[in-house]
Amino acid sequence: MLTQFGVPWPAPQQLSFSFVPDGTLVAGNQPSDLFSLLNDASGAGDWQAAVMQALQTWAANANVNFVMVPDGGEPLGAPGLAQADSRFGDIRFAAAPLSPDVLALGTPFSPAAGTLAGDIVLNSNYQFGEGSNAQYDVFSVALHEVGHVLGVPDSTDPSSAMYSQYLGVRGGLTPADVAAVDAVFGVRPLDTSNQTIASPTLLSVRGVSNVAVVDAQLAAATDTHFYQYPVVDGEYATIVLHTAGVSLVEPQLTVYDGLGNVVGTAVSSGPNGADLVVHVHNPTGNPRLLIDVSSATGSVFGAGAYRLVVASGSYVPTNLLKAPPGNAHSDGGEIDDSGGGGGTYVGGEVDDGGEQGRTAKYSYSLQSILASPADVRYAHFTVPAAIGSGPLTLTATVWASQSGAASPVVSVYDGGGTLVPSEVLENENGTYSLQIVGVVPGAVYTVAVAAANPAGSTAVGSYHLAVNFGAAAAVLTPYASGTLTAAASQDFQVLNVNSSQYFHFLFSATSAATSGASVAVRMTIYDALGNVVQSLVDQAGSAVSTTLLLEPGTYLFRFAAGMQGNGMLADTNYQLQGTPLSDPIGPLPIKPITNLPPPPPPPFVFSSPVIPFYLVFLSLNDQYGKP
Ligand SMILES: [Zn+2]
Repeated sequence: MLTQFGVPWPAPQQLSFSFVPDGTLVAGNQPSDLFSLLNDASGAGDWQAAVMQALQTWAANANVNFVMVPDGGEPLGAPGLAQADSRFGDIRFAAAPLSPDVLALGTPFSPAAGTLAGDIVLNSNYQFGEGSNAQYDVFSVALHEVGHVLGVPDSTDPSSAMYSQYLGVRGGLTPADVAAVDAVFGVRPLDTSNQTIASPTLLSVRGVSNVAVVDAQLAAATDTHFYQYPVVDGEYATIVLHTAGVSLVEPQLTVYDGLGNVVGTAVSSGPNGADLVVHVHNPTGNPRLLIDVSSATGSVFGAGAYRLVVASGSYVPTNLLKAPPGNAHSDGGEIDDSGGGGGTYVGGEVDDGGEQGRTAKYSYSLQSILASPADVRYAHFTVPAAIGSGPLTLTATVWASQSGAASPVVSVYDGGGTLVPSEVLENENGTYSLQIVGVVPGAVYTVAVAAANPAGSTAVGSYHLAVNFGAAAAVLTPYASGTLTAAASQDFQVLNVNSSQYFHFLFSATSAATSGASVAVRMTIYDALGNVVQSLVDQAGSAVSTTLLLEPGTYLFRFAAGMQGNGMLADTNYQLQGTPLSDPIGPLPIKPITNLPPPPPPPFVFSSPVIPFYLVFLSLNDQYGKP
């Protein structure tokens, strides 16, 4: 199983993106150098416009919207919300020196990817610019990787933006590219009911200011919508077309009196333009205004969502100028933190993710504190309606709010108080995530949060909890397994990586040891030079994970079991599962192209070691001894 594609974002009509500041950690201690790589004499404007062009090329062809947000510079993959984290965009653009076989990496949405989902890393060992004079065209590379972020896999068609190698400057998407993204998110709904001035939508008004609010979208650059707003003689009216934080659409606003005379216009200045505002002083004898929202451009920026707000008087209330509610589970409600499930719930702030105007009611989230090592916090939530025809998958993620604080774990109980079986997806870096496939729509469940190790030094502190629902589960593939015994307490596996990838590994062990005897297994990953890439210890009965950017090469995985005290090691099974999280575009040299290259080799292969020559690099004396 390769990288999992086709999993939709929870709230695809409100996808945010950000450009990480230089110095942001990309993988391990590698700092991003995006701005120093791409900025030219005129600054960041050109390449950011090229990236927005790539984003919007997809958005013009599918039911998704993109908005630009600031980026706080937290490391890529930092614990947090996979979508609508207020610190950075859902999609984060970064750059770092990568191995020569990749131009860029993109990570599609996956419940196993954490906040790494959506992130795009350019290889700063190459030169990027705009157009065919550049070594590599930013728009064309971003177009490919944004396709992956939207769940579209590679294509074998050389004319596709999703062809796995760079073949020069792209003009746009092929029909098959469009069909692929529409299979994930659907097409933009086209409202034909109000496309002429003779058939306007009658706005319903409320309050003393006769406020009307409409959330709609231009389905294409040729789309247009008319609205009718009631006015009285001599009164002012204010019309605001709000797009900042809603989409990258470039609209125009035209206001007519009841006789069809234009009485006000405003035109967007760009994809991140300010709201369009028209003030009208209504003349005598005119009972209505007609408002036309249309595209200001025939380009891909002609499609996207908007919010239209109209009010009597000289302004509209600014609290109405926000993004429409999240679309995936807009009636999801909020976590009930009133307690139950055998414990008490004190404190904890209910947070529906609406900060910064980006609503995210697709999920439940809250922040609370483990006040003592034995503390267990419970919260109830209601499962939303089914999405599609398949089983509904719940993902519950809990993470420590500060580093060094509690390492929390989460478990889920049904309405009868019975623990619901779950699969661990992530247990690393202070984050613990599980999924349950087949939760019951409309049912009430309880989540319990407790310290991973109540006896440990990090058993108290504040945490975040997020619960999401989706139609697709994360798939972790079994990579390796074996039995460690007193006679053979270590085992080896080899991973051959042919193309740079973010990998997510989940490692677990179970032991036949009698209860009370503590068995642990250490997994150590070595590169071909014998350097330790990662080392993890798993206490039998639990699971731990790690997320790594692995460059091409051969990696040795060593599994070594140990037992606390001096007893003989009981038979202990270990299992390694995982998934690649990202997908690259290769840097094929171009122009002229006479023969297409052969398809690339499989990105990675697991095997049993043929010759244990790596063992000469290993100390055989570091077997895990004291769990
Ligand atoms: Zn690709």
